[in-house]
Amino acid sequence: MSTAVSELELTSSFRAALPELGVDWEATELPDPRLVAFNDALAVELGLTALRDDVEVLAGQRLLPGSHPIAMAYAGHQFGSYNPQLGDGRALLLGEITTAEGRLVDLHLKGSGRTPFARGGDGRAALGPMLREFVFAEALHALGVPTTRALAVITTGDRVHRAGDDVGALLVRTAASHLRVGTFEYAARLPDRSALRRLTDHAIERHHPDAADTEEPALGLLDAVVGAQAELIARWMLIGFVHGVMNTDNTTISGETIDYGPCAFMNRFDPDTVFSSIDHGGRYRYAHQPSIAEWNLTRLAESLLPLLVVEDRSNLDESVARVRAVLETFMPRFRSAWERGMRAKLGLVEDRPDDGRLFDDLVTAMRDDRADLTLTFRMLGDELRRDAQLVSAPVDHGDAVAAWVPRWRERLTAEARDTSEVVAAMDAVNPVYVPRNHLVEEALDAAADGDLDPFRELLSVVTDPFTPRPGAERYALPAPDEFDRTYQTFCGT
Ligand code: AMP
Ligand code: MG
Repeated sequence: MSTAVSELELTSSFRAALPELGVDWEATELPDPRLVAFNDALAVELGLTALRDDVEVLAGQRLLPGSHPIAMAYAGHQFGSYNPQLGDGRALLLGEITTAEGRLVDLHLKGSGRTPFARGGDGRAALGPMLREFVFAEALHALGVPTTRALAVITTGDRVHRAGDDVGALLVRTAASHLRVGTFEYAARLPDRSALRRLTDHAIERHHPDAADTEEPALGLLDAVVGAQAELIARWMLIGFVHGVMNTDNTTISGETIDYGPCAFMNRFDPDTVFSSIDHGGRYRYAHQPSIAEWNLTRLAESLLPLLVVEDRSNLDESVARVRAVLETFMPRFRSAWERGMRAKLGLVEDRPDDGRLFDDLVTAMRDDRADLTLTFRMLGDELRRDAQLVSAPVDHGDAVAAWVPRWRERLTAEARDTSEVVAAMDAVNPVYVPRNHLVEEALDAAADGDLDPFRELLSVVTDPFTPRPGAERYALPAPDEFDRTYQTFCGT
């Protein structure tokens, strides 16, 4: 059932609960907004199909009833350094949609003009990076990774100045919310102590309602966010996703991936993989992502601490100890989520004591071979397919992975499950297609020249990642090694 635009309505519950965490603001007037990408599947899910034909509403040029756009205020640790005021420099929260199931979903614009938080920035976005966020967000979603979603990309009709002169664009994004660790860092430093309490209540109600029933809801919230982030980072690691800019303002309370800037997929396995041109120290490299998430959650814990400490601070030490105990659960929870994921990728169902070693040794073998992460798991499925005479394709692992395979085979045999069942289970979690860097670049280059076909083709392949498609073979193959080795991504989006 589709709802007409005239029947759509937004709420502004964040703005109502936390007026001090935003500034009322409106999108810049655009000379010639045109829709270049629209996510029909997401629109159906959210009851927003009517927006396909209303670019004025999508671009924030005309407001839906109930919409009171704000630029959200937040702080954040960027590459480890605290910035007390970041905020939406070029983005706006238009309001919240309520889904048919009663879920609140943020409707948000990125690239909608300068706001009071713009600092030196122009408030704008270029087409390439907005299409990039579209491809990555939708690919991660299709891979089962919690993420903000891309509803639409609109060209603005004017140019933006980046490395050169680029097509200006705007992304319409949806999210479970835009609450970040940085939102708590900001609220914790406001003179009005009630803001932090209200923010905590809002976050609990919206994302982690069970925390409301815990003895100390702020601690319950921390525990829930630690759990959500442990799950999220495990999923990134399992597919080789490198976020690239895991600042605390890019770490959500919901546990969704947010802000696809210099992100990229690691193809050939190398734990030190860094793509971002500004990440000189490799702070956000592939293998660091779990410990960085833990570091970011520690910043959240510090921000929540005032809610746990009584006026005369007599329980400070005890409160710190309680918060620490929750933070210490991050690594075991991450590890357990990761092992669960590896077990599924390898077609195993039983939890055995030596599994951790088996999985770690595969990682080491992939590293030694510089094996392609995506292909390796898919080829393990091919081995079983060949056993069952489903395919005759040769399986071509490197030496280290090949030496590891018999141990996995033995482990599989011990479970004695039907091969076709195991293969089907593996194929459902091991993608054929991920947005490989050379294909992303090719699609974005074409888009900059006005040809959106490669973008559409790439999007259609990576949003149905588990089904091999005749004719799409090149999307399943890595670039020449040299490409990824020297590949750089940029933050100046
Ligand atoms: P990001 O790296 O996209 O998470 O952005 C970090 C911060 O920089 C946020 O406060 C953004 O709003 C701000 N920002 C990024 N690009 C621009 C821009 N072109 N104009 C204004 N603010 C920006
Ligand atoms: Mg950000």
